[in-house]
Amino acid sequence: MARRKYIVGNWKMNGTKDALGEARAIFEAALNRQGVDVALCPPFTLIGPMVAEISDAVVGAQDCHAAASGAFTGSVSAAMLSDAGAAVTIVGHSERREAFGEADSDVKAKAGAALGAGLGVILCVGEPRDVRESGGAVAHVLAQVAGSLPDDFDPARLAIAYEPIWAIGTGLVPTVADVAEMHGAIRGALAERIGAGAGQLRILYGGSVTGENAAELLSAGDVDGALVGGASLTAAKFVPIIEAAA
Ligand code: PGA
Repeated sequence: MARRKYIVGNWKMNGTKDALGEARAIFEAALNRQGVDVALCPPFTLIGPMVAEISDAVVGAQDCHAAASGAFTGSVSAAMLSDAGAAVTIVGHSERREAFGEADSDVKAKAGAALGAGLGVILCVGEPRDVRESGGAVAHVLAQVAGSLPDDFDPARLAIAYEPIWAIGTGLVPTVADVAEMHGAIRGALAERIGAGAGQLRILYGGSVTGENAAELLSAGDVDGALVGGASLTAAKFVPIIEAAA
């Protein structure tokens, strides 16, 4: 079964209700493109409004708590995201791994909670610059994949996003050959772990994706889509990436 391309926007801590017009323009453009799935992950506060005001919007969150409910001030559970209308959530973004000290075991618990609540998951992995330069990127990322994946999961509902930390928000991108090598290594590790189901799981690239470089990155082996930060904030920048995938 061919994997549909998957283009996901991560708005990070950007956007108030004023930004819903951009989201509307993005989803209108996405509807005209067959063969590509598009999702936007705005801040928690915009999930409900985006779902309510934009028909056919596929809206995601950027994180969830692993627990179902309880005394976790400031946190949001996967069931709450689903209740708000989210269809998917990012887990394990490097900004959360770094700034909030999330370990692979935390990411694994969050991914399991999200799948259990009926959400799709975009699970992020990626190496820091020194690890890339010392030649250890593949081993680093495969260890993150091994430690962050839930024990049991439906590969059609979980995507892995390979995001080299040094490429996020910097304008730097790995070579297409390096991206293809990493995605192939991830696919190989998945095949060892879950067998033929590995062919259903989508592996996204993220880190300074733009309308200019998207077509080349998306043509690399085993690249099934993109996780896009800065260039997902406006339709003018994000729609060309969607078009490159369709
Ligand atoms: P960027 O961010 O596209 O702005 O580099 C990607 C991400 O952090 O998901």
